[in-house]
Amino acid sequence: MNQTRNEIVVIGGGAVGVACALWLRRDGHQVVILEPEDIAGQCSYGNASTLAEYACTPIANPSIWANLPGLLFSQDSPFVVRWSRLPQLLPWLLRFMGQCTASRAKTNAERLARLLRQTYSGFEPLLAAAPEARALIRNNGCLYAYTTAQGLRGAQADIALRRTLGVEQEVLDAAGIEALEPAMAGKSVGGVLFPRSCHLRDTQGFLQALAAPMVADGSLRRGRALRLRSASDGVHIDCEDGSTLSADRVVLAAGAWSAQLAATLGERIPLDTERGYHVEFELGRELLTRPTCPVENAFYMTPLANGRLRAAGTVELATLRDPLNPARIRYIEERVRKVLNIDAPVSHRWIGMRPTLPDCVPVIGPSARDPRVIHAFGHQHLGITLAGATGEIVAACVRGQAPDWLGDYSAARFH
Ligand SMILES: Cc1cc2nc3c(=O)[nH]c(=O)nc-3n(C[C@H](O)[C@H](O)[C@H](O)COP(=O)(O)OP(=O)(O)OC[C@H]3O[C@@H](n4cnc5c(N)ncnc54)[C@H](O)[C@@H]3O)c2cc1C
Repeated sequence: MNQTRNEIVVIGGGAVGVACALWLRRDGHQVVILEPEDIAGQCSYGNASTLAEYACTPIANPSIWANLPGLLFSQDSPFVVRWSRLPQLLPWLLRFMGQCTASRAKTNAERLARLLRQTYSGFEPLLAAAPEARALIRNNGCLYAYTTAQGLRGAQADIALRRTLGVEQEVLDAAGIEALEPAMAGKSVGGVLFPRSCHLRDTQGFLQALAAPMVADGSLRRGRALRLRSASDGVHIDCEDGSTLSADRVVLAAGAWSAQLAATLGERIPLDTERGYHVEFELGRELLTRPTCPVENAFYMTPLANGRLRAAGTVELATLRDPLNPARIRYIEERVRKVLNIDAPVSHRWIGMRPTLPDCVPVIGPSARDPRVIHAFGHQHLGITLAGATGEIVAACVRGQAPDWLGDYSAARFH
């Protein structure tokens, strides 16, 4: 058997894995990323591209109960469940519903807010070495535009909670929205601007630019991990091609696929996927200047490089293996056409697997089974935003300087 020895192997080359690997390299470690596909080829590829440093309110919150029938039983809603998969989904769904109380939602919002405060400090040192990545950041805020008075009324609790947690936000009326984004004229009753939010003009391009030095010097290893094994001389990773990688430490950053690998060490973690979709249009011009979310529709409309517009979002509960659901694509396409009066054809359709724990808080920190394995997954709707912060925390862990609050993010909270 072919066995290679490493100091640190990061499993997964999505946003989170890339940021962890780069932070660890900055500390002088020898690091390999193990990834079967291109860098940022999975969930980190086609998301809404926002650095949503404001988004501390978890989707598991008490409003879910009020909206439950519509959310669950309509196939024309922003949140749908594939009912044939209920037996597989039920354990996660029950835990998720258990988090939809006011007190749990507040605790989880505080935990998210603490990570979100590190959004930019988590990226800044990585960007210093990657001017091509920095050039893809646009600093123009992000806009929530409510299309109904009921929607805007329902948002007041979230606005208040974000204020309590120190998020910068400007509440706007319809004229304020229109002044910022003329394409939204007559389409909203008011909303919120998050002025500190940035967006990436090309998410995969941004992450590939960050990872370029690792690709160039051979630190990206193509392969799929099948199993982790703890041994006295390190952690062994058995790969699909029959090879084994060995490492002093392993960072498990395989997004929605992480729980399968944690299970091979005997750790059961209730990670599942919230599937999301995008449609893109080649407009050849900029219709919006910042990510704009018609909130009731639950997707963002993000202006990308070269006149591309991407509408990305919604939630579908089904399994990692289920194919793309064309009805979800139609849901987004019809609504974005209506909001922005677009008649250009759709140029790209995509599904992505968000990695989500029932409390919507990521798992970060050492595994209880083997502390040489460090967890870094479950970033749900915020994996691009929180990638740098996660890398910063994982590097601190390896240095033996984990923050004293890190236990809040341990997988042990589910045991
Ligand atoms: C529609 C949509 C819109 C979104 N919008 C935003 C947004 O605007 N802002 C934001 O911050 N977040 C957003 N997100 C969420 C964000 O995309 C994810 O949280 C993030 O991409 C997760 O990153 P990750 O690195 O954990 O996972 P991934 O990007 O999925 O990376 C995991 C990697 O692990 C690899 N892998 C899997 N199994 C193995 C294995 N066995 N061995 C080796 N490698 C393996 C995969 O190939 C993959 O490359 C959105 C998501 C969706 C679906």
